[in-house]
Parts: sequence; structure tokens; C-alpha cells
Amino acid sequence: MDDNFSFRDIAELAQDVIIVTRAEPLDPPGPVIVYVNPAFTKLTGYTYEEAIGQNPRILQGLATDPETTHKIREGLNKSEPIHVAIQNYTKDGRTYWLDLSIMPLKNHAGKVSHFVAIERDVSVQKALQQQLAEQAERDPLTGLYNRRRFFEKAALSWNTYVESKQAFAILDFDIDFFKSVNDTYGHDTGDTVLQYIAHQLQSACTKEDLVARIGGEEFSMILSHVTPETAMSVAERIRSTVESTPIILASGPLKTTISIGVAVVDPRDKTIDSVLKRADQALYQSKLSGRNRSTLLPIEVRKS
Ligand code: GH3
Ligand code: MG
Ligand code: MG
Repeated sequence: MDDNFSFRDIAELAQDVIIVTRAEPLDPPGPVIVYVNPAFTKLTGYTYEEAIGQNPRILQGLATDPETTHKIREGLNKSEPIHVAIQNYTKDGRTYWLDLSIMPLKNHAGKVSHFVAIERDVSVQKALQQQLAEQAERDPLTGLYNRRRFFEKAALSWNTYVESKQAFAILDFDIDFFKSVNDTYGHDTGDTVLQYIAHQLQSACTKEDLVARIGGEEFSMILSHVTPETAMSVAERIRSTVESTPIILASGPLKTTISIGVAVVDPRDKTIDSVLKRADQALYQSKLSGRNRSTLLPIEVRKS
């Protein structure tokens, strides 16, 4: 049996992209492409003729992570194999994600003469991965962040505060008599109310703030760069908007109110937990004193 076959045929038939470049020069304009397989043309839109003589940098753009390109460059400099995930661009400007391996090829004298890149389009997997990561921190009913994400952000805000004294506030929200909404109008209407409240809270946030659904009908917000006065005015604005904007149901308007607890980080706070606890106690005060109100609880100074 004749076991002779062409490795070039294999490269041409492969679904994965194969690119061969010269090993030198590594400095700009960089090593040029001397071979691409048909899978390369299919993915990138560049023909064989267009690719040959170019530097693989033509595939990169603004979305390509500079840290990854730096890692590639380091690997090339050391003639070491590289394995990275990288975002590249097609000829017409579409981005795609690659699982990219680069290996040095040695000539007969044992010197690295070329690099071969073998790459697979992993855009679909990457999008799914991003979607899952996004879902893992969202509440499906309201689309708000979930409690896990909230506590992560609270810890970050605390660290920023410790490092740079950048103040933040925690606002806790609880819908008043929500059980009776469910009892009177049904669970679906209850869900609609939750979505409406979520929308009102989200509208009050800037890019640096965060609002999350912490539990059934409880929400929490982190406001960045605030004084106690601004935190209270945000809380009051939300409270009065909810109070004065009934939800329109088929059966007529439904008025809801919320109670709010506000705590602003204080130099005497020792941990984030003490700020979170104060917001919770402030909310409890709002409920105790009649609901549909905001309470700012200052830090309690223990006399010893
Ligand atoms: P208060 O004014 O003291 O806050 O009274 P409340 O009735 O709002 O408080 P309570 O904690 O007794 O009731 C919360 C209710 O929230 C009970 C539960 O049925 C309802 N709930 C929790 N999660 C959901 C949800 O996802 N959808 C709906 N529709 N209701 C929910
Ligand atoms: Mg509650
Ligand atoms: Mg409630």
C-alpha cells in the first residue's frame, strides 16, 4: 500500500483556519503571511492572494484585547507555543472570537523559520458563555441584578471607600402590603408590580449605581458619590414617583407604595456589613412609622 499523501491537502481540507507566517522580522512591519488555507478565506473574507505578504495584524482591531496581543508577541519573541482566545475582524469589519494556537516551526538547521497559527471560530460558544455569565447575575422576572451581584458590588464599593474615601449609600426598598396585592389581584399582577417597581428603580440609577432584586419584593440600590442629602433626595424622588404613578390594570389603576431605608457610609463604619445593617434597620423604621416613607439612619455612636 502506498502511504504517501499530501499534508497540504490536509491543510486545505481542514475546517480550522491555518496561517503560516515567516518567523522574522518580529519588529514592525512584522513577519508576513506565506500561507493561508481555504478555511481562512471562508472565515475572514480575505482571499489567498490578499492575505499573502500581509501581517496577521490586519485581522486585529479596536475590540482586540491589547493584553492578548502582548501575550502573543511575547510568545513569538521567545519562540514558545501560544494558546489564547482572541477577538479578530473579518475583511468587512465583523468581529469573531478565535481559539488560537501558534507554534514555532523549525527548519532543517533547527532554527525557527516560521510560525503556524491554527485557529477555530468560537464566536457561538463565546456568545453563549457571555449570555450564561450575564444570566447568572440577573433576576429573570425583572431583569435587575440578583442578590449575589449586589453583594459583590457592595464589597467593591466598600473597598473603593476604604482606599479613596469615595462615599456611597445603600438604599433598601420593600413594597408596602404586597401580600394583599397578590391576594386581591393574583400572582401575575403581583409580578407586574414587581416589574414596574424594578423599572422605576432602574430609571433612578446612573451608570455607576446598581440596583438589584434581593428577595421576593425587596430591592437594594448602591448609589455612588453621594452625600446623605442626595441619597435621601433620590430615595424620596423614587418613593413619590411610585406613589403618584399607579399601574394601569385592565380592572383599573392600582396604586402601590414603597418603604425605603437609607444608610450612607460613615468613617466610623468598620465593615460593609454595618452599612448594610443600618439600611435594613432604616427600612424597618420606615415600616414602623407608617410605610410609604424614606428613613435615613445615621450611625449610632456607642458611648463607652
Ligand atoms: P409590608 O408592608 O410589611 O412589607 O407587607 P407585605 O405584605 O409587603 O410583606 P410580606 O413580606 O408579608 O409579603 C411579601 C409577599 O411577597 C409574600 C409573597 O407572596 C410575595 N412574593 C414574593 N416573591 C414574589 C414573586 O416573585 N411574585 C409575586 N407575585 N409575589 C411574590
Ligand atoms: Mg418584605
Ligand atoms: Mg413588603
